[in-house]
Amino acid sequence: MNVHDSEKVVGTLMQEGYRQVETVDQADLILYNTCSIRDKAEQKVFHRLADYKKLQAQGKKFGVLGCVAQQEGAKIFERAPHVSLVCGSASYRKLPEMLTQLEGASRAVPGEIPPPAGENAGVRDDAFLNRGGAESTRDSGLTTRDSLVRITGLDDRQTDECFETEFTARTNPHRGYITIIEGCDKFCAYCIVPFTRGKERSRTSDSVLAEARQMAALGYTEIQLLGQNVNSYQDPTSNGRKKRSFAELLAAVGEVPGIKRVRFTTSHPRDFGRDIVEAIDAVPALCDHVHLPVQSGSTRVLDAMQRLYTREQYMERIAWIKAAKRDIAITTDVIVGFPGETESDFAETLDLLEEVGYDGVFSFKYSPRPNTPALNLEDAIPDQEKARRLEVLMAKQRDLQIPRNRNYVGSIVEVMVEGHNQARGQWIGRTSQNKTLNFTAPAGKSPQSGSYVPVLVTASFPNSLVGEMMSQDESTAKTPDV
Ligand code: SAM
Ligand code: SF4
Repeated sequence: MNVHDSEKVVGTLMQEGYRQVETVDQADLILYNTCSIRDKAEQKVFHRLADYKKLQAQGKKFGVLGCVAQQEGAKIFERAPHVSLVCGSASYRKLPEMLTQLEGASRAVPGEIPPPAGENAGVRDDAFLNRGGAESTRDSGLTTRDSLVRITGLDDRQTDECFETEFTARTNPHRGYITIIEGCDKFCAYCIVPFTRGKERSRTSDSVLAEARQMAALGYTEIQLLGQNVNSYQDPTSNGRKKRSFAELLAAVGEVPGIKRVRFTTSHPRDFGRDIVEAIDAVPALCDHVHLPVQSGSTRVLDAMQRLYTREQYMERIAWIKAAKRDIAITTDVIVGFPGETESDFAETLDLLEEVGYDGVFSFKYSPRPNTPALNLEDAIPDQEKARRLEVLMAKQRDLQIPRNRNYVGSIVEVMVEGHNQARGQWIGRTSQNKTLNFTAPAGKSPQSGSYVPVLVTASFPNSLVGEMMSQDESTAKTPDV
C-alpha cells in the first residue's frame, strides 16, 4: 500500500507543478514515505533521516509522510530537527496545501527581501519529483534560511476522507493498484495500522470502476485492488444506485474490457466470504490466488491476538478455496513469538502450514508497537528464540513449497512478461497464481514486457518456476494439467 500511496502523492504533486528528479542531489525537497508496522522499519526511518541531515546545508527541505509521521507526529521535529513537514497517512489529501504553506513560510524569512515573483515561479515550473524507493524529491525553490518552519498534517482516527486522485503517477505501465478501502477497524492486538491509518472508509464502487476503466483505456491489463482488509469493503454508493459487495466489485473490475488480470490484497479471514471464491470461479480475469493471513495456527494465540476467528474457522475458509473449480494458490502471513506463544502453540502453526499447503508465507517476529493492546502483555520470548522459531518456520515452508512447485512441471501456464534478465538469457514472467516463472524464448522471439505468453514449465525451485516459451499453436496442442 505504501508504494501506491507514494504513486498517488507523486501524481498529485506533479499536477501541482512539481517535477520528479532522479537523485536526492538534484532535489530541493525530499519527501520520505514511511512504514511503522514493525520496530525495525521505524528505526530505519530515523537512520535515513539522520543521513539526510548533511544535505540541509545545501538548502534542501525534508518532509516525513506515512505511518511513522502519523504515529510520532511533532516528536519527529525533536528527533530530526532538519525536518520541516510531517504528514500522516490519513492526511495525504492535505499535502498540496501543506507544501504551499511550507513554501510561503520559507519565502517569508524575516529581514530578507523577497525574491522577485518570477524567480520562484520559474523554479516551480522546473520542480520535479523523484521516485527512489519510497522517497519523493522535488525542486521547490525553497530558501536555506528557514530551518524552523514546522508544518504538520495529522488526522485523528475519525476522518471520513479517502485520498482519491485521478493523477496517480503509476510506476508500472501494465500493472496498477487501486485502493478500494482505507484504514482498519479490526484492532488486532499487535497491530499499529488502526492507529496510523484511521478508521475504515471505502470508496464508491462507481469511482473504483471508473478508475479501472480509465486504466484499461491507458493500456493497463492487470489491476490489484488494495486495502488493509478488502473484505470489509462497504460500498458507500447512494442516490438509489446499487451498492456492490466486495465480491461483486471484484467481478465487475474483472469484467472491464481490456483487463486481463485482477488481484486483491489483503483479506481478513473473519470477513472472507464464499462469494469471493464463487467470483473467482465465474470471472476468468480474476487471478487464481488468495492471500489469507492466518498469523498463528493456535486458536489460543489467535484469541490473544484478537483476530476474531479460530483455527477451525480459518480452515473452513481454506476448504472453500480448495473446493473451487480453479486451482487457487494460497499465501499467508504468520507472526512468531507473540506474547505467550508456547512451543506447543508454535507446533500448531507448523502443523497448519502442512495442513494448508501454502504457496508462500510471509513470516515475521513479533514486534511490540506503541498504543497496541498487546503492549500490556509481557513480551517474554527472547529475540533469539523468536529468531529461532522464524528460521524453523521458514525452513519448513521452503520444504513444503518444493513438491508444490514441482507439480507444475510439464504444464503450460500463461505468464505476464515482467522483464528480461540479460545475464541469464531469460525472461521473467508471473503466473495467475502469482508465481515467478523465468523462461527462455525460441530463437528470434523477444516477448515484450506486459505481454501474455504461454510457457511450458520445465523445472521448479522452492520460490520460482523455470520454463520455455511456446508458440500459440504448441500451447493449444498441450493441455494444462495442474
Ligand atoms: N490487514 C492485514 C491482515 O489483517 O492480515 C495485514 C496488514 S499488515 C500491514 C501485514 C502483516 O504484518 C500482518 O499480516 C502481520 O503478519 C504483520 N504484522 C503486523 N503487525 C506486526 C507486529 N507488531 N509484529 C510483527 N508482525 C506484524
Ligand atoms: Fe492490522 Fe489486523 Fe487491521 Fe490487518 S486487520 S491491518 S493486522 S489491525
